[in-house]
Amino acid sequence: MGKRVDQSSMGVAPPRLGARVSSSRPRRIQREGDVTLAANLAKPLIISCAITGSVTTRRDHPSLPITPSQIATSAIEAAEVGAACVHIHVREDDGTPSCRGELYHEVFERIRSRSDVLICATTGSGAGRFDESGRLAALAHAPDLASFDAGSMNFGERVFENSPAFLRELARQITSRGIVPEIECFDVGQIGNAVRLESEGLLPGPTGKWWFQFCLGVAGGAPPTPSVLLTMRSHLPPNAEWSVLAIGRAQLPMSLIAMVEGGHIRTGMEDNVYYRRGELAASNAQFVQRLVDLAGELDRPVATPREARELLGA
Ligand code: ZN
Repeated sequence: MGKRVDQSSMGVAPPRLGARVSSSRPRRIQREGDVTLAANLAKPLIISCAITGSVTTRRDHPSLPITPSQIATSAIEAAEVGAACVHIHVREDDGTPSCRGELYHEVFERIRSRSDVLICATTGSGAGRFDESGRLAALAHAPDLASFDAGSMNFGERVFENSPAFLRELARQITSRGIVPEIECFDVGQIGNAVRLESEGLLPGPTGKWWFQFCLGVAGGAPPTPSVLLTMRSHLPPNAEWSVLAIGRAQLPMSLIAMVEGGHIRTGMEDNVYYRRGELAASNAQFVQRLVDLAGELDRPVATPREARELLGA
């Protein structure tokens, strides 16, 4: 008597396994984590597919796309199973990385004739082969996005040079054409290199939306671990969209973290040629299909190209 009793616990039987909980029960206040997780899983997932790159060779994978026709066909196949964006490098017929405008033009035209997938052009160095003007060659052919490598670093046995002066010029060249920069960060300090250009009006780009790609697992860059990925995310400017690519066997595990953390994912033969240990991937589309299937298991929607354009302002 006189003792206070928790009314909410009186006369309420625990739900049977599999039974739906009655909506008349007092609802618990959702914890912050539940809300964040629900928001992460509700966001359309942008899957990018990096078709060829400039480092992978036919020795690594016998059916690596090389010619404009092969690159475009592989990109279209990736888009057909769920990629919203394709990341494009071009090669000469013998497989050598190239920056010839005609090759970019042919690949982009072939893709655009059959797909509305977003096209992201590389502005990389072709594994050290291109000078600065060569790196800008693809921009004249109106890609939707272009990579922006946000700092210098050792990259395996070479130095990947992106001086502050070059980054300013690259930002000008990309954004003045209305192209969205995909800011590739190989380490946490490179995020700051990009953000500092905001005060000069050079980034984030035409629509004011930031789009970052974390590049993990390159020798000389940040390693592909969950703590590194989440630390990098914590240094982003507010409302930035982010994606992760990871090299080799780290590709899938990092993809899964991005999937539940509200990020986006890049896959494809530029970054990895093995579907699983000891088994080469059948195609770029096979990598994309696996991510689509996994997103389906989590009920995370996969972004269409139209949704990706909206998210990125492309
Ligand atoms: Zn690339």
